[in-house]
Amino acid sequence: MSEEARLREDICRLAKSMFDRGLTCGASGNISARLSDGTLLMTPTGSSMGFLDPARISHLDEHNQLLSGDKPTKEIPLHTAFYDTRTGTGAVVHLHSTHSVALSMLPETDPDDVLPPLTPYSIMRLGKVKLLPFFLPGDPGMGDAVRGLAGKRSAVLLANHGPVVAGKDLWAATYAMEELEETAKLALLTHGRQPRGLTPDMINQVVSKFGCGS
Ligand code: ZN
Repeated sequence: MSEEARLREDICRLAKSMFDRGLTCGASGNISARLSDGTLLMTPTGSSMGFLDPARISHLDEHNQLLSGDKPTKEIPLHTAFYDTRTGTGAVVHLHSTHSVALSMLPETDPDDVLPPLTPYSIMRLGKVKLLPFFLPGDPGMGDAVRGLAGKRSAVLLANHGPVVAGKDLWAATYAMEELEETAKLALLTHGRQPRGLTPDMINQVVSKFGCGS
C-alpha cells in the first residue's frame, strides 16, 4: 500500500475510533496529515469523523490548493499554523471533546498551562497546553494565535470550542489528543476536592526521564 493510501485509511480509522468513543460529535472535529512530498491530506468540511470515505479526503498542494477530493475543512489556517511553525509536524487533530471544552471555561484554569499535573502522561505527551481565547468558528485569527506561539507548544485549547494537537505523525497526534481529553476529565472529576497531584519534584523526574511533549 502506498504512503498516501495508508494515510487515507489511517485518518478514517482513527477518526471513527474517536467519534465512536464520543470524543467529538456530529460533524465537529477535523484531522490533517502531511505526506512526505509536503502535500496535505485533510478531512472535508461538514463531514462526520464517524463516516469518512478515504477516497473523498481533501488533498491539498503546498499552497493549500485542492488537488483532489471534497472541499477541505474551513479550519485550514489552524492546521497550517502548526505545520509552518513546528518543523517535524506530521499531523494535526482538532476535536470538540467535552471535558477539554469544560475545562477551558473554568475560572481557575491557568491560561498558560491548562492541565493540572495529575499524571505523568499529559506531561510526556503534551507538555504545557496553552489556552487561546474564543474565536468565531472558521476565524483565521485562530491560526494567527497559534503562529503567535512561535512553535513552542504542540497543543492548544480554544476557549469554549476545543483542543488542537500536533504530533510527529497521525498516531502520535491522536494519542496526545486522547491524553489531553482524559486529563481534562480527571481534572473535572477531582475539581474542588484537593487531589494529590504530582509534586514539582515528581514533575522534574518525569521530564528528565521521559522528556516533555511540547
Ligand atoms: Zn472546531
